[in-house]
Amino acid sequence: MIMPIQPDNPFTPQAAKRWIKIPQWAQEKILANVFCGKCLGSVPIILEKAEMRDRDLILMGTCNNCGKKICRVVEPE
Ligand SMILES: [Zn+2]
Repeated sequence: MIMPIQPDNPFTPQAAKRWIKIPQWAQEKILANVFCGKCLGSVPIILEKAEMRDRDLILMGTCNNCGKKICRVVEPE
């Protein structure tokens, strides 16, 4: 089986700086539990982009179940 080519690193430098401060177990929990308005529940996100907006980290991507665009805000510590 051929693995799909990994997209470019979705994190901007500033977002990456914020992201690495989060423990790995919490990162996994965040990525596995993003609200999807179509599935009406928590779904895994396929991460496409992560950037800082003011002091919040914004994770953007698509729903792993239905492909809808979803995003999640990670608030400052
Ligand atoms: Zn969905």
